[in-house]
Amino acid sequence: MKVLKFGGTSVGSAQRMKEVEILLRQDGKKVVVLSAMSGTTNSLVEIANYLFANKNEIASNLLEGLKSKYLQTVNELYKSDNFKSKAKDLVYSHFNYLLSFTRDLFTIHEEKAVLAQGELLSTALFQLYLEELNVNSVLIPALKFMRIDKDLEPDYFYIQENLNRILEENKSVDIFVTQGFICRNVYGEIDNLKRGGSDYSASLMGVAVKAEEVQIWTDIDGMHNNDPRIVEKTMPIQQLSFDEAAELAYFGAKILHPTSVLPAKKANIPVRLKSTIEPNAFGTLITSQTSGKGIKAIAAKDGISAIKINSGRMLLAYGFLRKVFEIFELFKTSIDMITTSEVAVSVTIDDDKNLNDIKKELEKYGRVEIDRNQTIVCIVGDFISGDKGIANQIFSVLKEIPIRMISYGGSNHNISILINTKDKQLALKELNKLFY
Ligand code: ASP
Ligand code: MG
Repeated sequence: MKVLKFGGTSVGSAQRMKEVEILLRQDGKKVVVLSAMSGTTNSLVEIANYLFANKNEIASNLLEGLKSKYLQTVNELYKSDNFKSKAKDLVYSHFNYLLSFTRDLFTIHEEKAVLAQGELLSTALFQLYLEELNVNSVLIPALKFMRIDKDLEPDYFYIQENLNRILEENKSVDIFVTQGFICRNVYGEIDNLKRGGSDYSASLMGVAVKAEEVQIWTDIDGMHNNDPRIVEKTMPIQQLSFDEAAELAYFGAKILHPTSVLPAKKANIPVRLKSTIEPNAFGTLITSQTSGKGIKAIAAKDGISAIKINSGRMLLAYGFLRKVFEIFELFKTSIDMITTSEVAVSVTIDDDKNLNDIKKELEKYGRVEIDRNQTIVCIVGDFISGDKGIANQIFSVLKEIPIRMISYGGSNHNISILINTKDKQLALKELNKLFY
């Protein structure tokens, strides 16, 4: 069994759905996980916001607009009038449900039900298309087996039991189409795995069915060794270890959602990143193996704030760092990088929502300085600590760039450097020299 996930742009039009069907014409049973058609989830978020604000007329106009896009897709996708009419009924039933919210007061829990319609629609339409082509397939509702527990973590046992039972009940079927992103919570309500969560769905399902491979299909031919928007001639990385991929996914390589690496790593299930535009390209294969020492890729994450706490109290004192970290914990703000000296500590955060409150609390312990508009440049690879020369290579190409923080040795897979965002372009270009 393989699990194949197709993202929003890969199912973003009738034409793209037809291309996905062609890609499925290979042997073996498959679970096919789809996102909502591109743009749909964003539109539904916008519509839900209008419903919250009691602007029901605007919401209803937006829904009518979205509905006509789906009706157009229906016209282009199916050949026979019979299937066109079945598909139209589907579209009408989902939109009638959505429109029902415009006639009532909207509650926070209904938002999840609204968002779920995107994936419910894309999968129902796609599976109906497979039926028209006589492909041996079935639609299996993710809401019957995807579940999160009271801590909002996936309920592995429930998912495994229920997904395998459903597959068992459909033994003769080759292709199981299902929704990414959506699930139920402990109360049985419709919930989701947060934005971009379809990759996570695919990886969780891969673990549940002990898949031979999870494939994530997007528009990009794998994770690249640098940011293609900034550096010319970047290349896809053919092989990455789970740890390397996790570092890269977090640091802005938008192609794979960071949460999806962990389940696959735990169950040791290979994850392959593939492009629907260049299906024959190798892509990136993520496994437990590393493809050798050295630098594999460079990524950058903008929008970082650096916070420095200077305190005489830190000198030869214990418990100081705990007090600092507790403040971040109190404001549910996660810290990315840390560097310390005897009299000061610097940390970075990417969520600065509570920065003013955090600063006030920190000031009880010392003088606080904040630098905004910072970028973490992250160099990912296999650096066995003590490996000679790597730091030297990195800093020699960066000699013109002021560096605010350095983190080395935290793991064998990541060297992070904090710089001002205005220097990012130069840094990425200079670091690219390390690949040649
Ligand atoms: N459709 C959802 C989103 O746009 C989930 C996903 O595509 O991964 O966030
Ligand atoms: Mg995505």
